[in-house]
This record gives sequence, C-alpha cells and structure tokens, in this order.
Amino acid sequence: MQVLCMANQDFADVTCKVCGEAYKLYFERPSGREDAIARVSQTLVEHHETGDGMNVHPLKPFNVPAWSGKAQYSGAALLGGAPSWA
Ligand SMILES: [Zn+2]
Repeated sequence: MQVLCMANQDFADVTCKVCGEAYKLYFERPSGREDAIARVSQTLVEHHETGDGMNVHPLKPFNVPAWSGKAQYSGAALLGGAPSWA
C-alpha cells in the first residue's frame, strides 16, 4: 500500500537508519502499517545508496512506493489525513 512521508522530528513514525532524519507517515489504509514502515525504512536507506552526501532525502513530502503524480493528491495523502501543504 501507499504511504506518504513527511519530515517531522516531533511526531516521527520512522527514522532513517543512516542519517537520523525523522518522518511522520500517512497511510492509505490502516492495515499493514508495520510492513509499510519497514518499506519506508528501506527506501530511506536506498536514498543514501543512490544519492550523494547526507542530504539525499527529498525536501518535499514523498510517497512510498514512488508515485508519479503530486504527493498531495496521492491516495495516502487524501485517505491518510495528511495536512495540506504548499
Ligand atoms: Zn537518511
């Protein structure tokens, strides 16, 4: 299922194992959260494998798995109750 990841140090559901960046997650469905969290954790590690330096994570909210549309219109954002952002 799809998850929206927004950087949030105060209400983090998952933390990058490499750099410690913290994300709050918005889930498309309530079930399967643990699998989704594990997947996001893996995706964050992959950002470091494919990126350069420490600032490898997207600055804007992003979806896991990747979604080609705007993140704020994704199912995870709409169904997960994500706050709106610019
Ligand atoms: Zn990281």
